[in-house]
Amino acid sequence: MIKLNENYLKLPGSYLFSTIAKKVSEFSQNNPDKKIIRLGIGDVTQPLCPAVISALHSAVDEMANADTFKGYAPDLGYEFLRKAMAENDFRSRGCDIADDEIFISDGAKSDSANIQEIFSADSKIAVCDPVYPVYVDSNVMAGRTGDYDTTSEVWSNVIYMPCLADNNFAPELPKETPDLIYLCFPNNPTGATITKSELQKWVDYANKNGAVIIYDAAYEAYISEDDVPHSIYECEGARTCAIELRSFSKNAGFTGLRLGATIIPHDLKTKDGVEVHKLWARRHGTKYNGAPYIVQKAGEACYSAEGKAQLKEQVAYYMKNASYIYNGLKNAGYTVSGGVNSPYIWLRTPDNMTSWEFFDYLLDKANVVGTPGSGFGPSGEHYFRLTAFGTYENTVEAVDRIAKL
Ligand code: PLP
Repeated sequence: MIKLNENYLKLPGSYLFSTIAKKVSEFSQNNPDKKIIRLGIGDVTQPLCPAVISALHSAVDEMANADTFKGYAPDLGYEFLRKAMAENDFRSRGCDIADDEIFISDGAKSDSANIQEIFSADSKIAVCDPVYPVYVDSNVMAGRTGDYDTTSEVWSNVIYMPCLADNNFAPELPKETPDLIYLCFPNNPTGATITKSELQKWVDYANKNGAVIIYDAAYEAYISEDDVPHSIYECEGARTCAIELRSFSKNAGFTGLRLGATIIPHDLKTKDGVEVHKLWARRHGTKYNGAPYIVQKAGEACYSAEGKAQLKEQVAYYMKNASYIYNGLKNAGYTVSGGVNSPYIWLRTPDNMTSWEFFDYLLDKANVVGTPGSGFGPSGEHYFRLTAFGTYENTVEAVDRIAKL
């Protein structure tokens, strides 16, 4: 009989969002007359902007013509998109990133999960706690995390960096040296950010200790404060220690279209002097057949003057929701953070309720769905995440319902 990869059997329980979906579905079956408002999952609700729609239409028309039809996409991405990203996301911000250091993909989730596989199986990882669950789970699948302690809900071979109110939800440099450090700013789930000088400390630490930082910039478009970096390559020395993940999901609403990128500078090398860039290119060539031409054209449209202006409006729409949630809950007596450079609001549960108790309470009493903080790691216990990705009307209604409880 065939045997399973035992690492997969180590994964605890079900995926956070599947558990939430199950609970919500049961509630709605038992309460068909109740209007449930979902501020749980980080999925967008606004339609794609006109510049993107028009690029999609033109690209589809190209596919209908023998002269312009496109088959397999280049596996590292079309030059037009790599160039648009390098110029607009990096070089215009003073980051020294070449077009060919950008690998186009179908999104940051798969890249953030897959990137670990080019590093040795005994690499030690460090993660923020709480954290986007994909980082840890993908390392569990790779057999890198040791044993799971069901009481403390931690893996024996993972370095957890608690992000709590005391440290402004920003991790501190770990005492034990990791090989791979996952950082995500603006952060999911806490909505926290760090300044450029704080991020510089991480870059210096990684270079000094031979560690690699995987920097998830999926929420970069939500940054509103000047001293918060949009890319890790704004820091000196990041080219020798950092990989950056980018996504078109949250800034442009591509959660259904699927598009992202991973940036690996040529200067990032392993202990033996091998370019990580080469390994990822080899991996991409073997396991990935490229994001669709149509979608990459839609991605390019995000960088046109029209596209940029429309996306700015979309981000502003969600940020208006974010401040409504932040202020509404604060005025109602909740302890809240995030929501300034981020579409996520992170709140302390009232009356010391556990995160799941508060989830059930909110669903039952206000018919509002959020995400229990404990689902993101042990330090997320007694916290709760609400997202600004709903419609404005639903957001207002949800916050008003919570405030009245
Ligand atoms: N990275 C973080 C931190 C996220 O929160 C998410 C989605 O919620 C992703 C990556 C996934 O991005 P994508 O839709 O590009 O796969």
